[in-house]
Amino acid sequence: MRKLQMVDLKSQYDKIKDTVNNSIQEVLDNTAYINGPQVHEFQKNLEEYLDVKHVIPCANGTDALQIAMMGLGLKPGDEVITADFTFAATVEVIALLQLTPVLVDVEPDTFNISIEAIRNAITPRTKAIVPVHLFGQAANMEAIMAIAKEHNLYVIEDNAQAIGANYKYADGSKKKVGAISDVASTSFFPSKNLGCYGDGGAIFTNNDELAHVIRGIVNHGMYERYHHDVVGVNSRLDSVQAAVLNAKLPLLDSYNEARQAAAEKYNAAFAGHANIVTPVTKGDKDSHVFHQYTLRILNGQRDALMKHLQERGIPCAIYYPIPLHRQKAYLDERYNEADFTVTNQLVDEVMSLPMHTELNDEQIKFITDTVLEFLT
Ligand SMILES: *Cc1c(COP(=O)(O)O)cnc(C)c1O
Repeated sequence: MRKLQMVDLKSQYDKIKDTVNNSIQEVLDNTAYINGPQVHEFQKNLEEYLDVKHVIPCANGTDALQIAMMGLGLKPGDEVITADFTFAATVEVIALLQLTPVLVDVEPDTFNISIEAIRNAITPRTKAIVPVHLFGQAANMEAIMAIAKEHNLYVIEDNAQAIGANYKYADGSKKKVGAISDVASTSFFPSKNLGCYGDGGAIFTNNDELAHVIRGIVNHGMYERYHHDVVGVNSRLDSVQAAVLNAKLPLLDSYNEARQAAAEKYNAAFAGHANIVTPVTKGDKDSHVFHQYTLRILNGQRDALMKHLQERGIPCAIYYPIPLHRQKAYLDERYNEADFTVTNQLVDEVMSLPMHTELNDEQIKFITDTVLEFLT
């Protein structure tokens, strides 16, 4: 059996080696390492794939979030509501810009930001909501957009984990996540669903004016060469990474389908077990693209199970072990533990199993058998 890994980038690369190598070779041959034609081509390809008017490539997903917030003109003291249960990048950029992060609890079934908690957190200073499509599943965007409209707030989707997922509206229509809110960010970190071979990210918006503002911000605040109209940053997707992404974007749907198929096999093996809660998919199947396959292990057995798996060569991980409101950098006396009951419980129960595009049946069976032999 092939060695088990949380993410198997080597087996994926082996299958697309010629295409990717040729794509990279073109960059090497024309030497436009920064802002080469591959970057523009990728921008167009991604705009078409997402059905969004503007994609602005940048250096990574954390920058993408920061630049989106800068583009919206958020000011120190503005309150930004986001999920307590996510990767720290989301709250980090809020704090870096001297905005006020307002962390709120999540839903116990999808792990995505709680609509009720958002409502309870709104004050006259609230300016934006940042839903994260966690582990690859679309957040409840229809409800979030309705709250935003009612209170005149911006919505910034953190789409680092769910590129390619579709959000299904109550009327049955669908949109790609990231193309729904005022502006969205994504990451092309190698292990993400659409990963490059280094760092990369992008910002998406349907708003022409905002897209123009953001294109200047990513380039030192320049709209005309050597005229610096606003304080910007230097955040670029390089041509080599764009070349890799141009080779991989046509495969994104098949990659996401491979993840969904693996998740279904895991779900089938664990179905009905009293101490395993398998991931719930809201909407249609394609609203979850399984960046992670995350179980809740009940009855206090999680840590012992992880040890059992690791001793047998099965990697597993806790995303995320500490709620953001309890992280030293983000402590705030306004927080009340009673407002974070779901996150506080999830950090003790969640466990992610290997999830990537190259998992085969033999590997999945070994993993599920090993989990089931241990758990009571
Ligand atoms: C990966 C990730 C980011 C940051 O992306 P980088 O490219 O690593 O900067 C932001 N938010 C979430 C939810 C992520 O998973």
